[in-house]
Amino acid sequence: MGKASKDKRDIYYRKAKEEGWRARSAFKLLQIDEEFNIFEGVKRVVDLCAAPGSWSQVLSRKLYLPAKAAAQDEELPLIVAIDLQPMAAIEGVIQVQGDITSARTADVVIKHFDGCKADLVVCDGAPDVTGLHDMDEFVQAQLILSALTIVSHVLRVGGKFIAKIFRGKDTSLLYCQLKLFFSTVTFAKPKSSRNSSIEAFAVCENYNPPEGFNPTDLHKLLEKAGNPYDDDSDCCSAWLEGPNKIYIPFLACGDLSGYDADQSYPLPKVDSGGTSYQSLEPVQPPIAPPYKTAIEMKKSSNGRKDV
Ligand code: SAM
Repeated sequence: MGKASKDKRDIYYRKAKEEGWRARSAFKLLQIDEEFNIFEGVKRVVDLCAAPGSWSQVLSRKLYLPAKAAAQDEELPLIVAIDLQPMAAIEGVIQVQGDITSARTADVVIKHFDGCKADLVVCDGAPDVTGLHDMDEFVQAQLILSALTIVSHVLRVGGKFIAKIFRGKDTSLLYCQLKLFFSTVTFAKPKSSRNSSIEAFAVCENYNPPEGFNPTDLHKLLEKAGNPYDDDSDCCSAWLEGPNKIYIPFLACGDLSGYDADQSYPLPKVDSGGTSYQSLEPVQPPIAPPYKTAIEMKKSSNGRKDV
């Protein structure tokens, strides 16, 4: 498909180029703002999974540039953007290249907010999609949990969090997890997001973590910077303790080469010793099975009939 036909077919793609946005995604954040007024009063913001940078451009144009133009003595807005990929510079945006699922990246972001908290965290992160909806939805949810870890360290009480989600059968679980931390959670689909895409955005308002919640517990969800396979049994379950202990994780064990408990398998015709297959007695038969009396009653009634 040529550029011109894409311009014709995708109005947002064309408009993005006309207005100088690096990606059509810019319109998604702008439309979320039109509906939810997310930039009001925002002075500090984190843009997670930011490359190529259209959301950071929106943040710069909406927050940083107007404040700079006003030339007041007030502190200029702080915008920190993170991505695995390098990103060309944007005025007023501090860039961190790293993986948001790693504790090391989270620590770098947290350091930028040393002593003060962010008003808004946005995350447009998406893993490379496989086309397997369940798998894509799961990996996306893991990315959101990593984002939530950073949120729990840097977002002020009352702050907002916007995150891309993939709508699927586990959306309600994600909703409940987010509801633990925010008074209001809305799943929104901006007009510029294609209907054919399962993408939507969680708009989480009024950050209000549960009483007794310790952000460092959630931090343990992140892959460890040094050795992610470190045998620390607390690593994945600690955040489910205390006020967070609401959902019990379910783990399917065993690899696909194992036997399937629901399938029938043919009996071996000859065993390893060369004799034909013989069924073995149970290692320890039940001592007093409840069916024992029934068998005895049946035997004695058969005996009576035989007389
Ligand atoms: N909001 C961006 C914009 O407006 O230009 C677009 C973001 S793009 C849809 C998704 C981004 O998520 C990619 O740049 C990708 O590198 C990033 N990403 C995916 N997984 C990540 C991770 N674990 N840590 C950091 N960035 C990640």
